[in-house]
Amino acid sequence: MSEAPSSGTPYPYDAPASQALFDRAAAVTPGGVNSPVRAFRAVGGTPRFMVSGTGPYLTDADGREYVDLVCSWGPMILGHSQPDVIAAVQDAVSRGTSFGTPGEGEVALAEEMTDRIAPLEQVRLVSSGTEATMSAIRLARGFTRRTKVIKFAGCYHGHVDSLLAAAGSGVATFALPDTPGVTGAQAGDTIVLPYNDLESVHEAFHRHPGEIACVITEASPGNMGVVPPLPGFNQGLKDACHKNGALFISDEVMTGFRTSRAGWYGVDGVEPDLMTFGKVMGGGFPAAAFGGRADVMAHLAPAGPVYQAGTLSGNPIATAAGLAQLRLLDQAAYDKVDAVSQTVQTLVTEALTKEGVAHRLQNASNMFSVFFTDREVRNYEDAKRQESFRFTAFFHSMLAQGVYLPPSSFESWFVSTAHDEQAVQRIADALPAAARAAAEATAA
Ligand SMILES: *Cc1c(COP(=O)(O)O)cnc(C)c1O
Repeated sequence: MSEAPSSGTPYPYDAPASQALFDRAAAVTPGGVNSPVRAFRAVGGTPRFMVSGTGPYLTDADGREYVDLVCSWGPMILGHSQPDVIAAVQDAVSRGTSFGTPGEGEVALAEEMTDRIAPLEQVRLVSSGTEATMSAIRLARGFTRRTKVIKFAGCYHGHVDSLLAAAGSGVATFALPDTPGVTGAQAGDTIVLPYNDLESVHEAFHRHPGEIACVITEASPGNMGVVPPLPGFNQGLKDACHKNGALFISDEVMTGFRTSRAGWYGVDGVEPDLMTFGKVMGGGFPAAAFGGRADVMAHLAPAGPVYQAGTLSGNPIATAAGLAQLRLLDQAAYDKVDAVSQTVQTLVTEALTKEGVAHRLQNASNMFSVFFTDREVRNYEDAKRQESFRFTAFFHSMLAQGVYLPPSSFESWFVSTAHDEQAVQRIADALPAAARAAAEATAA
């Protein structure tokens, strides 16, 4: 039975064109969306169907403009319709869209990535972050000839069967206790531990000697809200892995080429055995990658026995977009993104403080999010203790005033080099009323 996704929500029906599209979508697509968090179920109301983006702005089907603080969940670090990226795409498209053969664009993108990140000796291109983490896990198992994987509660690594245990992001938003469709066998080799807790990692290695293939972690988590690693945590994971013959996999799908020129590796300097990428490296197209130590990557087909493939892997349009974007991301660009991020963080804190709203603003370089709690958030259990109903009120006030936030309190906010003074001013103007709405909100 399909129900109108908007029914029963207490929010004003103020986006008629989006609502009409959402109703059409719901007839042909489960829940009306192609990725769950887009449906606004955590916050209610009508998801905005966007028709165009320019710089820091998005325009929806009703013709309303929003300052975009989602940036396609990270990729649009140069803003929308960046002219050099668009030109690179148009140039690539004019030569054809897919050849199913190797091409120079893939080589150039891989070179750009390996140049930026020392421990990234070799990369294999894929089309989504999910494929990247799935393949990295397979490779780690093939390389070590072991089966078990350690992951952390609240870390999201895409919708890989074995990693959909206590995952953050959409799964956190919907608080699914478990995911139907993932078998006990698939989840049974996954050990889920609390984030930022090295002791539990040591215990797990102790309990399963010779069985653990790898530890996978978000380089700095952004899928339970922004919860950075405590000092020494990533290094401790790496040391524990190496002491026990396991591989350390750092998932940089979100942080890669965003938190610095060399992603989170560029911030904390811990060298993983394998890394995964997506989002920024695709320039808004489906391009992702996994890579790392050459001796490990040598186990991948056709060089080695671990199979992995993709019809559209290294697609010429996607690689052209990604390469153009990365080439524009020099230190000045990161300085700009960091500065805008800092400004917005300060504005948000000031507005919430002024209204007496308990909150914690947490950041990892230019990624940040607000938790409606007064306690530090170090793991998923902490993140779940926030007063999410305040976020809902805050979100809808910002939306009504033309600022588009991630529609969940378990997601990072993102800014871009295109967020100029005018865009920041619009955010500043919207914040007082949104903070008041958060202060006045009551639990449902
Ligand atoms: C987004 C994300 C993924 C999944 O990437 P998709 O391209 O959505 O499949 C994996 N890991 C992390 C850390 C992510 O943020």
